[in-house]
Amino acid sequence: MLFSHDTELTLRAACALVNSDRSDGEQLGDQQALDAYLTSWGWTGRRDHDDAELGSVHTLRARLGRIWATAGDEVRAVGQINALLSDTHASPWLTRHPEMPDWHLHLASIHDPLAQRMGAEMAMALADLVRSGELRRLKICAASDCDAVLLDLSRNRSRMFCDTGNCGNRQHVAAYRERRSKES
Ligand SMILES: [Zn+2]
Ligand SMILES: [Zn+2]
Repeated sequence: MLFSHDTELTLRAACALVNSDRSDGEQLGDQQALDAYLTSWGWTGRRDHDDAELGSVHTLRARLGRIWATAGDEVRAVGQINALLSDTHASPWLTRHPEMPDWHLHLASIHDPLAQRMGAEMAMALADLVRSGELRRLKICAASDCDAVLLDLSRNRSRMFCDTGNCGNRQHVAAYRERRSKES
């Protein structure tokens, strides 16, 4: 395990959030879709179920996407992560609950708005990544026609393709065809 379980889970949730409008159009367009996302990643606490809330989750998504895009430039990425920590008033406390029975950090009150709580926890998980010198595990898919992001948790940081669009396999097939056409 590279990171604590809650850091890894939160980073995966951030990755899924960014990708929710990158491969198959808008996948987080209404309350139902947001509910499904929140349930699948174990988010609890306050829900307003209004457009403003959905809008701020979309804003957070764009912001996280920019952090992913900046991951190669540590100083700039740190600036963005610090800004997110600050804007979301992140303040850690330990908790456990039925959805997540192991002790883990929450970074905001359960009464804070959804996007603020998500942003605070994601910013803290990103801060963990920076502190362990692993920021470059945030990658953009190497397929030329795909801008999905990935969180490379492989031992040797060798992953290049996202797992949303079957890109690794598509590239493999394309490379094979390329070789074949050169041979013939
Ligand atoms: Zn929790
Ligand atoms: Zn891809």
